[in-house]
Amino acid sequence: MKLPIYLDNQATTQVDPDVLQTMLPYFTQIYGNAASRNHEFGWTAEAAVEKARAQVGRLIGASDKEIIFTSGATESNNLAIMGAAEMYKEKGRHIVTSAIEHKSVLDTCEHLEKSGYTVTFLPVDRYGQVSVDSVRQAIRPDTILVSIMTANNEIGTINPVAEIGALCHDMGVIFHTDAVQAAGKFPLDVEKMKIDLLSLTAHKIYGPKGVAALYVRRRNPRVRLAPIMHGGGHERGMRSGTLNVPGIVGFGKACELAMKYMDAEVPRLRRLRDKLWDGIRAGLDEIYLNGHPTDHLPNNLNVSFAFVEGESLMMGMKELAVSSGSACTSASLEVSYVLRALGVGEDLAHTSIRFGLGRFTTEEEIDFAIEKIVTTVKKLRDLSPLYEMVKEGVDLKSVQWTAH
Ligand SMILES: *Cc1c(COP(=O)(O)O)cnc(C)c1O
Repeated sequence: MKLPIYLDNQATTQVDPDVLQTMLPYFTQIYGNAASRNHEFGWTAEAAVEKARAQVGRLIGASDKEIIFTSGATESNNLAIMGAAEMYKEKGRHIVTSAIEHKSVLDTCEHLEKSGYTVTFLPVDRYGQVSVDSVRQAIRPDTILVSIMTANNEIGTINPVAEIGALCHDMGVIFHTDAVQAAGKFPLDVEKMKIDLLSLTAHKIYGPKGVAALYVRRRNPRVRLAPIMHGGGHERGMRSGTLNVPGIVGFGKACELAMKYMDAEVPRLRRLRDKLWDGIRAGLDEIYLNGHPTDHLPNNLNVSFAFVEGESLMMGMKELAVSSGSACTSASLEVSYVLRALGVGEDLAHTSIRFGLGRFTTEEEIDFAIEKIVTTVKKLRDLSPLYEMVKEGVDLKSVQWTAH
């Protein structure tokens, strides 16, 4: 077993060796520009891109013509929201989203608010779920877009996306979902789930970083997007720029493998994640699960360890690569906005750690992690006067703290 152990698969994943092998020839041998229509180099590159487009489409039940390649899910989310907002602005300027979307959705919506759009940021319940009813109540005659993530990247909660999709379809509102974390974890079908726009990214499913896709529905209804990138008119005019051929080839392979492995991988991940949770619970008290008890990604575990600062805990167990809060905000010590939206108190939120398991996580690593977490938390709690008081039966709320 090699240390440190990678348990941050919601932040990014290792490139699968089979994905890498598939990509390699496209750097040095088949290096043509997929838009070069005049020679063999261009033709073979284009054929490889089209094969990958079909592979990506297949993962979500879409046709290849409905896949637009981008540089990341950040761009896919920007294109979906900005593109729909611009295209349908004569129809209305109201957007519905949730309070715990990825920053690439929230910041894009906030940006639109500055230019005359109104955005409803729906609250979530204590498990991080958006209710279908709250979406129904938020939709107005001028609503043009609903954007609700399939599964959350911090707490792993899965939303009732098929129900929200059906509702939006009935009400004639475009439905976008950020399915980055859900891809490969359970079957996605844009037809059954009535999804109009869907974001994916390669690096969360064992593909390379910097390549992603946006699914754009072509019929029933046909969704049109104004481009946010202007240039040569690639990707049906929706996303200009020379295609990242090796990256796209790798992304396609990653999608193929995700489908191939899903049936075996998901139960394995769930078993290891449950083992981790059971092991932590057996060794420690005063711990709290953040996220939904059942509608939950199989590879995510977000736990608050009361009386232990998340940052100190991470420092105390450097053998484990985990994350406190979201990787995108962990540069600052602000409490995660996701946990805040769940109603997790400031104190407990500061003690939270996210464990993200993946395809390459082993049983041995989970055994090591349990042992490391339990001993480190115990050690830190031994230094905590608050924990000691609670153990002695003192009700902390009754204590009169003196200001200094
Ligand atoms: C990682 C992530 C993104 C951003 O994807 P990039 O390809 O890194 O830009 C968007 N949404 C969710 C839910 C994510 O986990």
